[in-house]
Amino acid sequence: MTREPAAWVEVDLDAVARNVRALKALTPPGCLFMAVVKADGYGHGTVPVGREALSAGADRLGVATVEEALHLRTAGISAPVHLLSEPPPRDAAAVVEHHLVPALCTREFADALGSAAVSAGRRAPFHLKVDTGMNRAGVRAEEACALARAVRALPGLVLEGIFTHFATADDPAGRAFMRQVERFDAAVRSLRAEGIDAGLVHAANSAATILQAGVHYDMVRCGITVYGLHPSSATHGHIELAPAMSVKARVALVKRIGAGEGVSYGLTYHARAPETIATLPLGYADGVHRVGSNKMAAIIRGTLCRQVGQVCMDQLMVVVPEGIKVQAGDVAVLVGAQGQEEIPMDALALAAGTVNYETACAFAMRLPRCYVRGGRPCDLPGAAPGCL
Ligand SMILES: *Cc1c(COP(=O)(O)O)cnc(C)c1O
Repeated sequence: MTREPAAWVEVDLDAVARNVRALKALTPPGCLFMAVVKADGYGHGTVPVGREALSAGADRLGVATVEEALHLRTAGISAPVHLLSEPPPRDAAAVVEHHLVPALCTREFADALGSAAVSAGRRAPFHLKVDTGMNRAGVRAEEACALARAVRALPGLVLEGIFTHFATADDPAGRAFMRQVERFDAAVRSLRAEGIDAGLVHAANSAATILQAGVHYDMVRCGITVYGLHPSSATHGHIELAPAMSVKARVALVKRIGAGEGVSYGLTYHARAPETIATLPLGYADGVHRVGSNKMAAIIRGTLCRQVGQVCMDQLMVVVPEGIKVQAGDVAVLVGAQGQEEIPMDALALAAGTVNYETACAFAMRLPRCYVRGGRPCDLPGAAPGCL
């Protein structure tokens, strides 16, 4: 028996493939492409997106945690999988066993990885993570060479690459960006000056991949753009992207309310005139940010309907414009297109006062996902049936 979900996320795999190809077209031949599929593929599904990205030409996948990497391995994906953050030393054996490529920025992890590799009779590759100004993860640029030298002396390890991450890649003419590039280049040069082969050099996230060809180096690492979303307004107009995620629900209930009546907890919204209210079966426990209450919309029957009242845990309400016939079971679109109307993920981010990265990730919380190609559902393990 197939059960149709009341609310769901739809992911267009063709869009993922198109985005990967469009991004790769920005980089020179021979430049490797890493598709970043951490955080459940920014809410789109790590495994289906990872697989699609690889078949569209991505060379490697990037995740944040060992658990995410193991999902890819368990699904049978054998492509190189990078851990963009240094894992805890206790995970070193799993890193070696599953052939993951970890970021490395401390002696502690280097020791753990080295001994895990020696025990397994292998040499474990790693990428040296250099902090050039973001002050988050990574070894400070001026200490990178000393760490590389110390780690090189350990048996079982292979320096396969060196990388950094930009704090202001959407402002590539800015001083802060330039300084990060200078520090990174200096760190790479200092390794080379000691005869240490730094291997693959990489730095560019989506914004830098699009805006700054000078920092493509040997590989780019794209996340948000693989999903068809822009990292910031700065990249609009520089590349055509196809948004992969839509968020949909079937109208649960339709009712008329009278002038002056309130809607939802706290009655933060009052109808000025009699209105038709449609209740949609998704809420903040599904990833709709409550802080965006009264600022969002949904499309039903090709018509934009304002979201009103506080978003609840499992439901939210919209006003159906007069003259539009809506009934229970109609498909409502919270993110995506229907008819002539479209609600971009960015509109939701704006309503919630956050970035599209966060609003997309949030939809991984509870909603089932269905995958489509060319507008038709495709069978994938774990995908909900009958979503269209
Ligand atoms: C998440 C991440 C990326 C991808 O960033 P986008 O802005 O989504 O392209 C690249 N590199 C590192 C180290 C990351 O953590």
